[in-house]
Amino acid sequence: MRSFSYSRPTDVAGAIAAELKQPETKYLGGGTNLVDLMKMGVERPAHLVDVTRLPLAQVEERGGGLRIGALVRNSNVAANPVVRKRYPVLADAILSGASPQIRNMATTGGNLLQRTRCPYFYDPSYAECNKRAPGSGCAALLGYSRMHAILGASEHCVATYPGDMAVALTALDARIILQSPQGERAVPIEQFYRLPGDTPHIENDMRPGELITAVELPAEWADRRSHYLKVRDRNSYAFALVSVAAVLDVGPDHRIGRARVALGSVAPKPWRGAEAEDSLRGQVAEAQTFRRAAELLVRGARPRHDNAFKVELAKRAVVRALTAASEAV
Ligand code: SF4
Repeated sequence: MRSFSYSRPTDVAGAIAAELKQPETKYLGGGTNLVDLMKMGVERPAHLVDVTRLPLAQVEERGGGLRIGALVRNSNVAANPVVRKRYPVLADAILSGASPQIRNMATTGGNLLQRTRCPYFYDPSYAECNKRAPGSGCAALLGYSRMHAILGASEHCVATYPGDMAVALTALDARIILQSPQGERAVPIEQFYRLPGDTPHIENDMRPGELITAVELPAEWADRRSHYLKVRDRNSYAFALVSVAAVLDVGPDHRIGRARVALGSVAPKPWRGAEAEDSLRGQVAEAQTFRRAAELLVRGARPRHDNAFKVELAKRAVVRALTAASEAV
């Protein structure tokens, strides 16, 4: 591991100043992904700014919605009574990921910034990885691609975004709150993550000097029927092959009002399709309706040689998640 210096500021301005002070600086939260990457030589920061002493560990009800501080631990988000009652899809998504020990360490902000689990990215003995070493190529294009993307990828990178929490946050139209010396800005989570294009090493919309301080859940998607479905090779402590967060209204006539559906582990970012969501509105909540939305959601899928199965798996997972959400109380 490369030697690094370390600081532990106690206020947000101090953390941002420390990040801006020298290049190759990284923020350190729970460290559940970053420290692993440093041990493997994938991440090689010159300086770490430990943000765990910053006053960003509160969950507050605001404007009918919820503001979750960037340092609230994943376990505490999942156990929060307001999250469990009004946004249960978020609690379910978090609890489907990692292990209790990791969830106790991992923070909300850090979870959003976790890196892909592409095995070639994690193993520096593979010289080709555009995400790790821009311009070097992509070992996954001709390699083992079972876990890789079927949507949104490019010829420069076919990695997926692997997390669960962000998939639920995408279905809930969450906003990421970023603080910098210029002030605060809010970015809808759909615009926060980038597709790889020819710059797969740039994964999100964060600018130098910005720090995630909170995530805001809008009132609009509180108290809706919802479901989080994660399909994976084993039942715990595994990343998804496909995951689905579904949030919707169903009227007394069993017709759907507004709906949100986000797919995880099929694309470089949590994947939504406006056409699929629009197709649900006003329709009877039944398998045929859900199957049509599923077809629209994965339209344009381009599987790799090892993961064609993900296309049908994603469709079936969408139907199952929407069915369960429509029947939720
Ligand atoms: Fe690297 Fe992306 Fe290719 Fe994986 S898919 S080897 S992360 S460039």
